[in-house]
Amino acid sequence: MDKWIMGVDLGGTTTKLAFINIYGEILHRWEIPTDISEKGKNITVNIAKAMDTKLNELGEPKSKVMGIGMGAPGPVNSLNGSIYEAVNLGWKDYPLKDLLEVETSLPSFIDNDANIAALGEMWKGAGNGARDLVCVTLGTGVGGGIIANGALVHGVSGAAGEIGHFTVVPENGAPCNCGKTGCLETVASATGIVRLANEALNSFKGETSLRGILDIQGSLSSKDIFEAAEKGDQLGKDVIDQVSFYLGLALANIANVLNPEKIVIGGGVSKAGESLLAPVNDYFKKFAFPRVRQSTELSIATLGNDAGIIGAAWLVKARLDE
Ligand code: ZN
Repeated sequence: MDKWIMGVDLGGTTTKLAFINIYGEILHRWEIPTDISEKGKNITVNIAKAMDTKLNELGEPKSKVMGIGMGAPGPVNSLNGSIYEAVNLGWKDYPLKDLLEVETSLPSFIDNDANIAALGEMWKGAGNGARDLVCVTLGTGVGGGIIANGALVHGVSGAAGEIGHFTVVPENGAPCNCGKTGCLETVASATGIVRLANEALNSFKGETSLRGILDIQGSLSSKDIFEAAEKGDQLGKDVIDQVSFYLGLALANIANVLNPEKIVIGGGVSKAGESLLAPVNDYFKKFAFPRVRQSTELSIATLGNDAGIIGAAWLVKARLDE
């Protein structure tokens, strides 16, 4: 009998779930709302219930599932699968692996959400099996995952791969959610890009379509800014150039240390595709030293929202294969 793996990608508002086969193919995919009430104590129960309900619907026994892999938003203690802290969920030193195993009676494996997205892209996405890979996710914030020689890098306190907090503006940088200033997240997340555009609008004297869009919509999105740049709007082009400089600088310095085969750029902002990749690549090549420039390749993520559930399934496959 072909076994299934349950992949879980826990977000602050929705939890993505999937049954995935050992080849990394998604067989059934669904979502449930994340219940963050009572310090998130219902989350594991709800996941267990959702799995049982779906298996019933499909007429499959629980023995069909070999294990559960799960990504959670927060630093993970990779020794025992507990979450050091997930502020949005109300978790602190939360024994997630143990609770999930109690609720489901299945072996469970936990990692950070940005890390499992990196595993997903390594296994089935833009990484294409590369064993040395860095994944950077440009969404509301900036996340990162580092895979070296096929294994995730966790660090001593679960905080490795936090590319979003790479300092790129050492003086007078904008405040970041982490408590410091000038982090990559403040200039390369969707929110950061919009902030840069708003700042530029205040001092820009020329013609720009973004002023009109701002008047009509009341706010700008990072998509508006990319679209303006693509149409040749000077302010849009200036902002995207600034964002690309910071990203190219950060990614080149990461590559100068790790020399990964691939750096995969994912998240909502990466939907800009070539309009983002081309200018970032120019700066990347400027700041990477020759041997890295020739061997490390930047590419856009290909799995979109599925990267997390697929990477979560990989966690199970890799551990149970051992
Ligand atoms: Zn920060």
